[in-house]
Amino acid sequence: MTTRLKKRFIAGATCPKCKSVDSIMLFKENDVEKIECVECHHIQSQVSDDVAKAAVEPQQVIGIFKP
Ligand SMILES: [Zn+2]
Repeated sequence: MTTRLKKRFIAGATCPKCKSVDSIMLFKENDVEKIECVECHHIQSQVSDDVAKAAVEPQQVIGIFKP
């Protein structure tokens, strides 16, 4: 299986549309960072710095908690 788009899940991120938690992925399309909700497929560009900072590699998600 080949992954062309690098997608990262964002720990603790909440979808602005369906309010689902831990369903947001960050990816780059044409050098523009976008987020996509895997629950409702809401896509949003212009990712905020907070979201970008919270983005982690999938294998690092375990063990990250926000107080
Ligand atoms: Zn959503």
